Amino acid sequence: MNDSSQNHHAKRKLIIAIDGPAGAGKSTIASRLARKLGYANLESGAMYRALALKAIDKDASFDDEDGLTKLAQNSRIRLEPTMGGNRTLLDGHDISSRIRERDVTEAASRVSVHPRVREWMVARQREMGEGGGVVMEGRDIGTKVFPDADLKIFLDADPVVREQRRMEQQRVKGEVAAGLAAELRERDRRDRTRAVSPLVAAKDAVVIDSTQLSEDEVAARVEELVKKKLNQRD
Ligand code: C5P
Repeated sequence: MNDSSQNHHAKRKLIIAIDGPAGAGKSTIASRLARKLGYANLESGAMYRALALKAIDKDASFDDEDGLTKLAQNSRIRLEPTMGGNRTLLDGHDISSRIRERDVTEAASRVSVHPRVREWMVARQREMGEGGGVVMEGRDIGTKVFPDADLKIFLDADPVVREQRRMEQQRVKGEVAAGLAAELRERDRRDRTRAVSPLVAAKDAVVIDSTQLSEDEVAARVEELVKKKLNQRD
């Protein structure tokens, strides 16, 4: 290797993985951190949500691994990090708002249990993140997508607090929150118990419990970890 490629390697931007259950604050922290570092914030969950939406629209069964894998292979799912938040495109259409609705949320956790669906997703996610300069959030980023990520954070919180946060978000959007807690619990259970890449902290992840912490406090801890990592490398 010549000098310039070694130099380039030394300055490679980090791959930061943020995993954890719903309502732990991953999206807020990931987008804040990405903005601060000038990195791309890639929400892997949006990709499962996009496939789930396509399955809903095509009336495909959430249990049909074969059919769902083919559906994924024939889809163009794009994550577009923008300053005003992330956009998700499915086959050229902006589906950013639609995929946050409850039917899609539920379906995403069902289509994501299938090993071959995950294989396809993981391959796309690696392509998007391998160059570095990314904060990627999800459930299996530190364990499966980027097991060699420069920094792995597992963001957790007490289930009751996570449920309350989600209900509050729902109320702010002016939508009905009834039944949300039960849905979140069921989604958690499914994510943690599936056979392939269940939600679990990587052995080398830093676990942050945000139950008693404000958003600013969590962000400060994460930024401290990033700073340390950048200093170690220089
Ligand atoms: O993160 P988000 O809530 O948008 O994810 C929606 C669903 O997609 C999760 O409940 C989970 O089942 C699935 N998911 C996953 N692996 C990821 C990200 C999301 O299985 N890396």
